[in-house]
Amino acid sequence: MPFDWLKGFHQEMEKAPDYAEKTLAAYRLGMKAKGSIRGVRVEVDPDGCPASRALDPAAEYLPDDAPHLPLPDCPKGGRCRCVYRPVMSYE
Ligand SMILES: [Zn+2]
Repeated sequence: MPFDWLKGFHQEMEKAPDYAEKTLAAYRLGMKAKGSIRGVRVEVDPDGCPASRALDPAAEYLPDDAPHLPLPDCPKGGRCRCVYRPVMSYE
């Protein structure tokens, strides 16, 4: 089906406008509680917008320093699949 890609696109979850704030706040709490979260990493969109490709996928951030997702200059906005991932202390 030539239009399958279109269907898939619409099925993707759109990020809430406060995705970054909420997710980073949760990580911040997790770190304060001396849990196993050490920091945050950005898992970039496999279809890679140019903005996300400039990010270092191995970089570790503190929640306060992490780049805001979706990236401000990402053309996909809320549909960008760049996500935050916790970095665990036992990694
Ligand atoms: Zn993006």
